[in-house]
Amino acid sequence: MSVHVSDHYYDPDKNYCGLYIVSKLALPEFGPTSELIKIFDKREIILLSITSHQKDGLVYDFIIVDLTGKESVKTELEKEIREKFGDKLVFIECADTGVPGFIYNVNGFPLVFNFSNNYTQVAALTAPIWKTLIMGMIKRFGASASIILWYMGNDAGEGKGKVLLTLTGINNRDMIKIGLARLQSLGWGRFELAECDEQGKEVVIRVYDNFEEMVTKELLDYQNSFMKGFLVGLASTIFGKGCRAIETKCVNKGDPYCEFVLR
Ligand SMILES: [Zn+2]
Repeated sequence: MSVHVSDHYYDPDKNYCGLYIVSKLALPEFGPTSELIKIFDKREIILLSITSHQKDGLVYDFIIVDLTGKESVKTELEKEIREKFGDKLVFIECADTGVPGFIYNVNGFPLVFNFSNNYTQVAALTAPIWKTLIMGMIKRFGASASIILWYMGNDAGEGKGKVLLTLTGINNRDMIKIGLARLQSLGWGRFELAECDEQGKEVVIRVYDNFEEMVTKELLDYQNSFMKGFLVGLASTIFGKGCRAIETKCVNKGDPYCEFVLR
């Protein structure tokens, strides 16, 4: 399934509504998210999007619905939420973007990656923007772009490795697995750790749907420099030794995935 960074809806002929609700969790009597879903369900209003997160006893819900032709329902909905939620309601707001027919979670910032309630801020780029960045570098710097990208990836991988080294009670293999899971959650591809021993003598990483390959597929001789540099930085830091990597399989050559062997 796909995971959404954010949902934006725009149609000047539609009456989209975005409701941002902060409330107190009081289980088992009161679960805000299920209450909200019930309120919309009984009116047969489809939730185009719902996000729900809880922190420190507060639940943050954001719902987008299409109320075209049902404008009068809006006040009714808000009234019912206020009544049902009572003193559990901390904040309610109907998102206003200032652009007719356009809705998104205007209160949705910062974007975070959550690891056991430790939040790291994310500044994401869409794949088309990655594409313009990488293609632009290649256009300006030619073959040197590959080296720059490798070092950028390598530094980033080292940084990620250092963060992972702070985890306790974990072996190197699982540490690499958590690192790769993180990359998957950031949208870089689907990763499989095919081989890995505790010393990192030989580490084999497969990447399905590698984003770097995807954005450079017009360049037939492109080498996954950024990804390769990243994996080298990650593995070198975690195993505490200088690793080297070769890409033994590549979707560009017709393989089902890119495979990196690190030694
Ligand atoms: Zn490849």
